[in-house]
Amino acid sequence: MPKYNINLITARRSYYINEIVFLLKITRKTCGLWIKQEGLKTIEGITPFVIKGYDLIDFIKEKRAKGKIPVKENEFLCMKCRQGVKPKTGSEQILKTGKRIGKDNHEQLRKTGICEKCGTRLYKFL
Ligand SMILES: [Zn+2]
Repeated sequence: MPKYNINLITARRSYYINEIVFLLKITRKTCGLWIKQEGLKTIEGITPFVIKGYDLIDFIKEKRAKGKIPVKENEFLCMKCRQGVKPKTGSEQILKTGKRIGKDNHEQLRKTGICEKCGTRLYKFL
């Protein structure tokens, strides 16, 4: 699933669908599905729908937990296979991204490989 930035949501305020669409860069349709099919809570008796910030945060956190695919240390997440996979032998490479990250300003490294099962290029940040 896409990464929704829940830091943009204020727990103590309420949002209209329009605002959620704007904040999380989703479509109105997606937001409607969340409400109708996936149980995102709205404040009862108000139309257009109003959603409490903390309900939205909880909803996304729960979505994240469900969508998480377990990937072992020596595996990559293959977006095509939707699972942790081993890279083809000899396909692994470590590249510098040119960015510096973290408190100690260390170089960001990206590991790449090719999926053993479907041949898709795999990435992960180290
Ligand atoms: Zn694959």
